[in-house]
Amino acid sequence: MADIVVLSKQLAELIAAGEVVERPASVIKELVENSIDAKADKITVEIQRGGSIYMRVTDNGIGIKRSDVKKAFLRHATSKIKSESDLYSIATLGFRGEALASVSAVARVELITKTKEEETGTRYVIEGGEEKLFEETGCPDGTTIIVRDLFYNTPARMKFLKKDASEATAVGSIIDAIALSHPEISLKFIKDGKLTLNTQGDNNLKSAIYTVLGREFASSLIPVDTETGGIRVSGMLCKPIYARPTRSGQYFFLNNRLIRSAAASKALDTAYKNSIMVGKFPAGVINIEIPFDRVDVNVHPAKTEVRFSDEKAVFEAVYYAAKNALETGDTRPELKLNTTANYPKPTPKPFERMTTQEFRSKFSNNEPKTLAEEIYVDPKPVSNRLSDFPKPIIRAENTFVTQGEQTTVQAELEVQKADIKTNVDDIVNLSVTDKKTEEQSVTYIGEAFKTYIIAQQGESLFLIDKHAAHERILFEKLKKEKTPDTQRLLSAEAVSLSRQEKEALLDNTELLTKAGFEVEEFGSNSVLVRAIPSALSQKDVNLVVGEIASNLLSTGKAETALMDDLYHSVACRAAVKAGNLQSALELQKLASEVLQNEDIKYCPHGRPVAFEIKLSEIEKQFGRKQ
Ligand code: ADP
Ligand code: MG
Repeated sequence: MADIVVLSKQLAELIAAGEVVERPASVIKELVENSIDAKADKITVEIQRGGSIYMRVTDNGIGIKRSDVKKAFLRHATSKIKSESDLYSIATLGFRGEALASVSAVARVELITKTKEEETGTRYVIEGGEEKLFEETGCPDGTTIIVRDLFYNTPARMKFLKKDASEATAVGSIIDAIALSHPEISLKFIKDGKLTLNTQGDNNLKSAIYTVLGREFASSLIPVDTETGGIRVSGMLCKPIYARPTRSGQYFFLNNRLIRSAAASKALDTAYKNSIMVGKFPAGVINIEIPFDRVDVNVHPAKTEVRFSDEKAVFEAVYYAAKNALETGDTRPELKLNTTANYPKPTPKPFERMTTQEFRSKFSNNEPKTLAEEIYVDPKPVSNRLSDFPKPIIRAENTFVTQGEQTTVQAELEVQKADIKTNVDDIVNLSVTDKKTEEQSVTYIGEAFKTYIIAQQGESLFLIDKHAAHERILFEKLKKEKTPDTQRLLSAEAVSLSRQEKEALLDNTELLTKAGFEVEEFGSNSVLVRAIPSALSQKDVNLVVGEIASNLLSTGKAETALMDDLYHSVACRAAVKAGNLQSALELQKLASEVLQNEDIKYCPHGRPVAFEIKLSEIEKQFGRKQ
C-alpha cells in the first residue's frame, strides 16, 4: 500500500465541499436558509441557466459585520451554536458552519453585506477558496451573495450536472418548499430574467399554497391541527378526490425545516386508504412540531433526512391528525370497497380449435352468420340480413397450423371497409376470431346499478364495468391514431397549476401536441389551453390538464410511458363524460367489443373490465350439477 500522507488543505476542502454542495439546488438551499436564520422577511433568489453560471440570493436580514466577513467563510465557523449543549436544542436551520466554506471552495463567490449598526457595507470576493477582494461599499442593510461558475475548478463534478432545465426544476422545488414552510417570508424567484414565483409573506399558509401549488389545489384543502403524544401536526391536506398520481404534492416540515420522512408519508397513505383509489397519493403541506430534544437533525449535511427518536410516535401523530381532518373536513360520502378481491389473472386464451373440415364447412359460403346479427348501430340495427354486408375477406395465409392430428385454425375475419356508418366501422374493424358460432355471440341482458352491464356469451355470464370498458377501448383507439383528433376551443381556457407542474407541461409540449392538445404559457401560475382532443369537452380541461401536468412531473419515464399516461388521462375523462351512455344498443355494442376483443381485459389503471361467471358454476351453486 502507498505511504500515508495528510491531504493538502485545498484537496481536503474540495472533498468536504462535496458533502454539502452537490448541485445548484443545494447551494440555494444553504443560502436561503442562512437568510432565514438572519431573520429576513424578504428574500429574492435569482438563477441563470439552471444556476450553474449564476445564482444570487438577496435578503433584508441582520447582515454580517465587517470584522466577521472573512471568518464566515472558514470551515466550522458559525454564529449559531457555541457549546455542545446547544447541539441538542437547535432552533436555526444552519449550525455546522460549512456552507459558505463549501460553496466558496467550488465556485466564484461575491458577498455584499451590511448590518444596521455599521455605516457602510462590505464587499468580499472569494474564488476557489482564495480571497480576491475585500473592500468597503455602499449598500442597503442585509446580505447579497452571488455564486458564479459552480464547479469551475472541479470539472469532474461539473459533468454530473444535469440539463439546465432539470437543475432549474430542482432549485424550484427547494424554493417551493421554503415558500410553503415560511409563509411569513415574502419570497421572489427569478429564473433567467423572469419572475416565476412571488409569495405575499402575509403569514397565511393558504395564500402560500395558492401561490406555489395553484388555485385548484388551494380550493380543495382541509385544515389539519392535532396534537398527539406531545407532537403537534398542523397544515393543510387535499380532499381525497384531489389525490395525485405521484407523491410530488407532499410536503413535510419538521419544526419548519423541510424533511423527507417515510413514516409521515406512510401515515398519510394509511389515513387516506379507504378514500382514494389505488395508485393515487394524498397531497398536502404538513408541519410536525416536536420538542428539539426528541429529534436528531445532525444526520446528513443536506439535512433533509432526520432521525426521530420515536418513528412510531411520528407515524401515529400524523395518522391521527390526517384522519381527524378527513372526518371533519371531507364531507363527501366515503366509498368503502373491498380491495382484496381476487382479480382474474390475464391468462391468454388458447386458440380456438377446429378441424379443417369444420372450418371449410363453416366458411364455405363466405358469410359470417352471427357477425351480421350482432351488429347494431345507434339507434337501430343496421342490418340483420346477411346479403346487406359486403363479403368478408378471410386471411387464409398462415392460418392452418398443424398440431398433432388436428388442424388449429386462427382465422381472422376482416370485413371489407364498407360505406356504412362509421360506428359500424368501429365494430367490424375489431378482428373477430374464428368460430363465429352461437357460442361467440354476445347477448345483452341488462344493466345493473347504472354501472355494470350483464351479458351472456357462450357458457358464461359476464359482469362488465361500463366505465372501465369504455376507458380501455378509448385508450386503445387514441393510441392507434396517426394524427390526433383535435378540436380548437372557442375560448381558450386558463388552467392554474403549481409552478413545477407548469414547467413540466411546457417542457413537454411536443407530447401534448401529439395527443391533440395545444398549450401555451400564461402568467406565472397558469397555462392557456387552446385545443384539446375531440373526445373531451371544455369543462374537462382543468381536470385533465392538471392531471397530465402532475404525471409529467415524475421523472425518469420513457417517452412512450409518458405518452401512455397522457392517453390514460384523456381516455379516463372521456369515458366519464360518456358515463351517461345508456341506451341498450350502446351498451350491447360495448359488451360485444369487450367480449370479442381478447386484449380488453383491464382498464388502463389495471382494474378488471369484466368478470366471468361460468354456467357450470351457477349450476353447481343451484345443485343441478356436482
Ligand atoms: P451556518 O449557517 O451553519 O452557521 P454558514 O457557512 O452557512 O454556516 O454561514 C456561516 C455564518 O455566516 C453564519 O453562522 C452566519 O453568522 C453568517 N451568515 C451567512 N449567511 C448570512 C446571511 N445571509 N445573513 C447574515 N449572516 C449570514
Ligand atoms: Mg448556513
